Amino acid sequence: MEILFLGTSAAVPSKDHSTSCIAIRSGPDIILMDCGEGSQRQLMLSPFSFMKIRAVLITHLHGDHVFGLPGLLQTMSLSNRTEPLLVCGPAGIAAALDAMMSVTEGETQYEVEVREVFGGERIDVRGLVIRPYATDHGIASVGYVVQDRERPGKLDVEKARAMGITSGRDMARLKGGETVGGVRPEDVVGPAIQGYRVAYSGDTRPCESEAVAVAGADVLIHEATYTDKEAQQAEDHFHTTALQAAEVARDAGVRFLILTHISNRYDDRSMVAAEAAGVFPESYVADDMDLFTLASFGLRRETPR
Ligand SMILES: [Zn+2]
Ligand SMILES: [Zn+2]
Repeated sequence: MEILFLGTSAAVPSKDHSTSCIAIRSGPDIILMDCGEGSQRQLMLSPFSFMKIRAVLITHLHGDHVFGLPGLLQTMSLSNRTEPLLVCGPAGIAAALDAMMSVTEGETQYEVEVREVFGGERIDVRGLVIRPYATDHGIASVGYVVQDRERPGKLDVEKARAMGITSGRDMARLKGGETVGGVRPEDVVGPAIQGYRVAYSGDTRPCESEAVAVAGADVLIHEATYTDKEAQQAEDHFHTTALQAAEVARDAGVRFLILTHISNRYDDRSMVAAEAAGVFPESYVADDMDLFTLASFGLRRETPR
């Protein structure tokens, strides 16, 4: 699974940072999470094809998370997309999208299925499972957990050898589900491994529904609009500090934390990173166009520093 950060700023973009947008890619499928202004241009500058987006998950209707959506839908249409697109969002997403598309005469040539979510649903998109959860941002808002497809179980190489399988190619075929020379995959391959889970908070204060939903996730992508010094402002504006995000990650037992939605006041993002790492060492602060790979080795930031 790959995670690409297209925009990592808080409400106001800067010359270096675009507003919220994250793409998750699994095989040929991309799920986009939030779509702030400028997201489609960021996508065009990235290695991800916007035509492979199967679903767009909006966390809430603040402009920095949604102003890019009508433009993206229109460009997909002008690029001759025919495949339907799923758009999920909190209460009000359908009316908001309708209004934005109708005043701009932005008709699409493909079907846009808009689904309002509240938390607790299960949505299947080409084998990926999306679970929205309620968050606490002062307006209708949700976060999302995206679960990748199951992976083949572990191959017992010794056992396979003992049963006469010697070549790597045959072992791979068994792992891929084929019977080879009378040996069945279930004889030598363990049970399927649950797909990776990536959770995204959107904007929120830490809250109980989030703690439950993200428990045990492989990666938690969390907003960190403030640092601990501005904890009162974070509380007042329904946001999270880097310290709190790290506490959420620690308490939920996730493997990795990636912070995003960073205010322009922190020109030097290393202080945000340091605050989180003090509580949760496996922390990263995302930058625009950062690409992470999540695989058996763990999480790796591919972008040169
Ligand atoms: Zn925001
Ligand atoms: Zn917001």
